[in-house]
Amino acid sequence: MRERLSLVIVGHVDHGKSTLVGRLLADTGSIDPAKIAKVKAICERQGKHFEYAFLLDALEAEQAQGITIDAARCFFHGDKRDYILIDAPGHIEFLKNMISGAARAEAAILLIDAEEGVQENSRRHGYLLSLLGIRQVVVAVNKMDRIDYDKARFDAVERTYREFLRQVQVTPAAFVPVAALEGGNVVSRSERMSWYDGPTILQAMEAFEKEPELAARPLRLPVQDIYKFNRAGDTRRIIAGRITAGTLSVGDEVLFLPSGKRTRVKTIEAFNASEPPLSVRAGESVGVTMAEQIYASRGDVVCHPDTPLQVSNRLRANLFWLGRAPLRAGQVYKLKLGTFSGLCEVEEFIEVIDASALKGAGHTDRVERHEVGEVVLRLRDPIACDLSHEFADTGRFVLVDGYDMAGGGIVREVLPAGEKKGPVRWTSEVGSIDRRLRETRQGHRAVVVALHEDMEGNADSLAGAVEESLWTAGRSVFRLRFEAADLHAPRPGELNLRTVCFGRVAALANAGQIVLITLPFDPTNQTSLRLPGLESLPLAQIRFKGTSEAELDWVLDASLDERTLHEEVRRKLDPLLAL
Ligand code: GDP
Repeated sequence: MRERLSLVIVGHVDHGKSTLVGRLLADTGSIDPAKIAKVKAICERQGKHFEYAFLLDALEAEQAQGITIDAARCFFHGDKRDYILIDAPGHIEFLKNMISGAARAEAAILLIDAEEGVQENSRRHGYLLSLLGIRQVVVAVNKMDRIDYDKARFDAVERTYREFLRQVQVTPAAFVPVAALEGGNVVSRSERMSWYDGPTILQAMEAFEKEPELAARPLRLPVQDIYKFNRAGDTRRIIAGRITAGTLSVGDEVLFLPSGKRTRVKTIEAFNASEPPLSVRAGESVGVTMAEQIYASRGDVVCHPDTPLQVSNRLRANLFWLGRAPLRAGQVYKLKLGTFSGLCEVEEFIEVIDASALKGAGHTDRVERHEVGEVVLRLRDPIACDLSHEFADTGRFVLVDGYDMAGGGIVREVLPAGEKKGPVRWTSEVGSIDRRLRETRQGHRAVVVALHEDMEGNADSLAGAVEESLWTAGRSVFRLRFEAADLHAPRPGELNLRTVCFGRVAALANAGQIVLITLPFDPTNQTSLRLPGLESLPLAQIRFKGTSEAELDWVLDASLDERTLHEEVRRKLDPLLAL
């Protein structure tokens, strides 16, 4: 079998990805020239300018000549080996495909429009490649015809972008000036750019190296499903999944992680083989029966006991955020890694940077769209995983916010396990519909607003007005009043009312409510809701003039009339409710 290399093409929309792919297919003779002529003729008849994108569409429609083209990939033949080209229409698709393993690229062609030069998106693409560990990159500076094949402008693009890539530790194999439309420097050299003596795109691709054989690495078999035999009395189970690394043989001693169960492989059932194989390797989908009946589950990974994955509920990770709502502490996300899926929260933001400017984002309490964060994630349950630079498939994850894939990341370090309880999860809350999902459905966030009664101001009646106006505006709101007795530290033997009260607040907020609380006048000014168990809820405390001011706290002028005060509270509160 000929060697195959998978390659992703990344670039901003309209920079010429389809054209470049079409050229590669056409000029390597991977498409029948008659087919090209036909599409050209159709274009002419319809008075349209021929586009390679049309050719790809036509091929897709016909599945012609064994060249399989679907929306995400197509195959073509080089001299040295075959290529699978993976199109990456946007950041989300790219991340999703890369991380889900649906389309693992070993190398990349990164496209820049010569006329536009290096844009924010080109930088983000570079950063993504770096984050995903794709180190073999050729940069195609396309549409050279539009800048008169000007060497100086090409050099300037190369200088700027090479410097950016250096900072994200990607060393490009080549910068190629390309005119994809006319085919210059894609497969054949362009006479218009005789000043260029580097490789063509195809030559640069042929020089890429294949990643070392995955089958030679330690075994990783993420469990996808467990099938039970239906016959009465038959207790056997088949563990099914795709081997992402290593080899597995009948008789092997295996370890399931994170569950920690050990057993031996009894039989291997390959889905498309006539005889059960004795050994299977990376890339194959298999069903395995074990010597003893064990209760493994989806998300477990099968490995050999001497080369285990790491297990913990705390990971240091780099992630690229694409969600509309920023990544925040106190919010619950779903983490998917291989076949594992579990809830997690951000425990710590270590660094947040702007992926295009490569400088600090100026905040470290959240990661906004298109920013990159180095964070510590805490999972509710332990996970078995690897470091991303050692095993791509079991070292990369995506984060899902509500129903949307909102980010992707790589595992940099597996930290010692922390205690299981998350900061806002109270022991009685067991539902799997978390705050984020509820917020998404109701269209606004949950916030806790505490109004402190004061000498001058009347918190209760103000809170009442705010509650009514929020309710009228279709918001989910709930109002509580705490008395002094609810809040003081309990004496020995006394019921801890404070814990009970804060538990109620946490439960209401986790149920998606805007919780309005009024608190009694406190002459010592000590009453604060920043207490253990509530610290990660979005909390705004309102006081009246003359008392201290903290970050999220709003100080109101009690001499104003209630209507004005109400408007002021709404003006400050409404932005906090935005999803
Ligand atoms: P994609 O969105 O990245 O797939 O871009 P396309 O391949 O569809 O190209 C976008 C537009 O740029 C099309 O109209 C192409 O004809 C045009 N284009 C692509 N490559 C070149 C080139 O080398 N020179 C010029 N002048 N136009 C090009």
